[in-house]
Amino acid sequence: MNIHEYQGKELLAKYGIAIPAGHAALTVEEAVAGARQLPGPLYVVKAQIHAGGRGKGKFTELGPDAKGGVRLAKSLDDVEAAAREMLGNTLVTIQTGDAGKQVNRLYVTDGVDIAREYYLALLVDRSSGQVAMVVSTEGGMDIEDVAHNTPEKITTITIDPAQGFMPHHGRAAAFALNLSGDLNKQCQKLAKQLYTAFMDLDMEMLEINPLVETDDGKLLVLDTKMSFDGNALYRHKDVEAMRDETEEDPAEVEASEYDLAYIKLDGNIGCMVNGAGLAMATMDIIKLNGAFPANFLDVGGGATKEKVTAAFKIILKDPAVEGILVNIFGGIMKCDIIADGIVSAAKDVNLSVPLVVRLEGTNVQKGKDILANSGLPIVSADDLGDAAKKIVAEVKKAA
Ligand code: GDP
Ligand code: MG
Repeated sequence: MNIHEYQGKELLAKYGIAIPAGHAALTVEEAVAGARQLPGPLYVVKAQIHAGGRGKGKFTELGPDAKGGVRLAKSLDDVEAAAREMLGNTLVTIQTGDAGKQVNRLYVTDGVDIAREYYLALLVDRSSGQVAMVVSTEGGMDIEDVAHNTPEKITTITIDPAQGFMPHHGRAAAFALNLSGDLNKQCQKLAKQLYTAFMDLDMEMLEINPLVETDDGKLLVLDTKMSFDGNALYRHKDVEAMRDETEEDPAEVEASEYDLAYIKLDGNIGCMVNGAGLAMATMDIIKLNGAFPANFLDVGGGATKEKVTAAFKIILKDPAVEGILVNIFGGIMKCDIIADGIVSAAKDVNLSVPLVVRLEGTNVQKGKDILANSGLPIVSADDLGDAAKKIVAEVKKAA
């Protein structure tokens, strides 16, 4: 789960981490009122969307010369003008995709005089099973570009979660950023605070870009992006409450209500599969047969009729879907029960696109019989390859 910058900064502030003062706003009036509480004379008005690259982003509706989603404002009037321009308009950044994201929220912060910009991130490094702290002197830019063009400017420090954060990790981070004197000390302290927040809150990623050195020698978190491990959210009700569903794909939100793992993709073949591994294999084999999956959908181990029905409905909401491939291994859940679920769900939703079903596992023959006797035009398949071929052919035929 992702949250907004202002929410992330509020969380960090609870760990004693220095952030510029700021106020979130949903209207122009709130933005100006927020600015009035700040010392000035420099303010920053920042679009709050779940995507980075806002500064260099474009408001397509405002024409090619419009400024991006992070505006420096030198007066309350400037704040008002910036807020008026941004709210309700669509910001396109390198992370939003071409459709962009509508700006419904702003964050008005105290403007900082920046001497230098750095990069610092913490993430779960699956290959080492440890926490990676990634630091770079090249802050404020796209870290992917830095990694590509000047990889030597990125330092990765791995932290063993069993051992925890040690003073040498902090020293290594400060050294990598070429910091000396008091700034070096501030960096060591900050790295430890960030690690504590990261672990405490079960984050998947915590990115500070930029971490800035101010003209008067302070390290400040100027921007943050955070994501949390969804499986651990039950331990963090306060974080869960920060979820902004308007930032998420509506189909993915609905899927999560039924405990379905659904990710929308660009193709035309809807997939309903149980188990992430089988789901990935299914998507691969669809591609191998020259078509593209419209989604990743894992109905999980206990695929009940309700879940299968919800899954069909979610898949069919995508207008790009021209056919559905169901590929289910009935282990704990028996194939006849699954077939019953598929038949009644298909009737329920008035299925209008071709449906190919491949069942395997316990009671597979019973399951196939149910499909064959359903009176519905369901095409049965024997194995994964057969299933993919059949759905691709059915979609071509229907076109
Ligand atoms: P992003 O574009 O979504 O990553 O948004 P950021 O919050 O990182 O802001 C983008 C850039 O705007 C930063 O790298 C800074 O260069 C600039 N910026 C943001 N806040 C301030 C500020 O308080 N003062 C100044 N001078 N520049 C700022
Ligand atoms: Mg940034």
